Formats: sequence, structure tokens, C-alpha cells
Amino acid sequence: MLAARLHLGPERHLALDEVPVPEPGPDQVLIEVAAAGVCLSDVHLIDGTLTPLFLDGDVVTLGHEVAGTVHTLGPGVTAAKVGDRVLLQAGEERNGAVFTRGVDYDGGWAEYALARVDTLVPIPDDLPFEQACFIPDAVSTPWAAITATAQVRPAEPVGVWGVGGLGAHGVQLLRLMGAAPIIAVDPLPAARERALEFGADLALDPADPDLRSQVFAATGGAGLAAAFDFAGVAAVREQAIICLGPGGRLVLVGLTDKPITITGGTAFSFFGQQLRGHYGSTPEHVTELVKLQRLHRVDFARSVSAVLPLADAEKAVAALESKQGNPIRIVLEP
Ligand SMILES: [Zn+2]
Repeated sequence: MLAARLHLGPERHLALDEVPVPEPGPDQVLIEVAAAGVCLSDVHLIDGTLTPLFLDGDVVTLGHEVAGTVHTLGPGVTAAKVGDRVLLQAGEERNGAVFTRGVDYDGGWAEYALARVDTLVPIPDDLPFEQACFIPDAVSTPWAAITATAQVRPAEPVGVWGVGGLGAHGVQLLRLMGAAPIIAVDPLPAARERALEFGADLALDPADPDLRSQVFAATGGAGLAAAFDFAGVAAVREQAIICLGPGGRLVLVGLTDKPITITGGTAFSFFGQQLRGHYGSTPEHVTELVKLQRLHRVDFARSVSAVLPLADAEKAVAALESKQGNPIRIVLEP
């Protein structure tokens, strides 16, 4: 079978390899992959800014956003049926540690992939695979940031910095939660337009010197109750902090090791503002989203920016890296 694999040796690179179709063991099934998302984390794994924590060996098939059908059952498996339409949780717990699919073990940038039975999530018949595959991570990460870490309540004024793969879903999900107003901030005009389409009330350019006063004007002088950094950029964090209102919290979702600057630390303390770190999501967040999709509270059709054959994995990575066409999700189809 064809697999797009990351080779971690001296010359780190992505290669299309012909490898044997794996055999499912006990408690596993073999998935015939129908669709797999291309994520910025994959770009970072290839460019070396991210490295697997638990990988055994130095080659791994990428792809942690995966959907397909159950093709073969492992010995003794009864909790799934051949032909079941599923998406796969983006990771699994082993001895207390969370192993990430497509990072610490082989993922779904291949014709087939192994999956532990407890990581299968059945999907509705009317949910296309290319929309299902990126629910784990591209949708579940902002969902967890909004519901679990920020605990956004209806009618709260919120800000979203970075309207790419995560931020675009963030805007949509904040709309679902009843946050108001929703203020989106992104340097790209196309991303600002998209934010308004997805439900933002206002879209601003971070380079605008009046940004802070526009945020306070749009929130009736209150400032933001919650802000989200989906970009992982130090300047974004500094700007979002000065837009917070009393008791406001800034949630850090996009990853960067750059230092965080709090301009006006006294005000930050006086108003009881907070910084909250956020990473990933739990399996429950994924099943919640599938239920919300099943009952048509959310729709991810607009998130599929392009569908490419697996053989074009390198092209997909290059397009995401260069933000060509400002994609939300590029999906690979074996
Ligand atoms: Zn991802």
C-alpha cells in the first residue's frame, strides 16, 4: 500500500513509500482510509519544529485526522463491524501517556491504518468522510478550548486571533455557544471575510493602531471576557491581553516558545485577568461534535478547502505551509 511517511533520520523528509498492509492485532481493526486531514502540526513535524515523543524507530506514517471504513477485524473484536463508517480519535492512552496517531505511531496518510477499537467513533451516514476526518483536532481543539478551558458563556464578548484551520472553526463554535459579540483578528483580508461569513460580528486587522479602542467600542466599553490565540504568535498575545476586560481570560492554543509580554501588568492584576494554556482535546469532545453534527447544529462543508490524492501529500503540505488560497483544511484521499 501507499503511505506518506516521515523519515526522521539525519535528513528529515516526507516520502511516499510502498509498505505492506498491516495486520490488526487483538483489540484492533484495519481501517480502509477514505480521508485524512493535513494539519500545521504535520508541517511542523516535517520542518523539524515538532518531534515525536514516544515513537519507536525513526519512520512514521503521518496523519492524525482520519476517517474511513472498518475493513478487517482483529482477533476477538466484536465492538465493530466490517463496513462501519468511522472517524478515529487523534490519539490513544497507553500506560498513562497519550500517544498521538501519525506522530508516535502510524497514522492515516495511507491506504490503510490500524486503529484500537476504543478510538473508533461511528459517524452519521450523511457526514462525508472529508468533513469527518478533521473533527479530531481541527474542530475538537477549538471546541475544548472554548468549552473546557475558557468556559465561554452565552452573551460573553469574545476575541479570536488567527482565522486559519483552528480559528475558523473557533468562530463557528463560538457562534453556536451564543458568544456575542465575536471579534475576529487576522492580517489576511480573505481570512477576515471568512470570519464574518462563519459568524463573527466584526473582523479587524492586527496592524490597525485603533484595534484596542475598536474592541472596547464594540463591547460597550467592557472589553473581552475571553480571547483566543489560535495563531501561536507572541505579538498576538500581547495585543489580546490589552483587549481583555475585568476578569478576562486569554487562552493560548496556537503553540510557540516565544516569551509572553504583558503590557500593563498592574492592570492585569488589578482586573483579575488570566492566561490559560490549552492543548488538544479529550475523546468526549470529539463524540460531542459528532453528535452536534448529527443533529445539524454544526456544518463543516465550508472547511474543506481542497481534496488531493494521497500521492500529492507533499503538494498539500507545501500549500498549507505557504497559506496558498488560505486553506482551512486540505484533505488527502488515498
Ligand atoms: Zn491536527
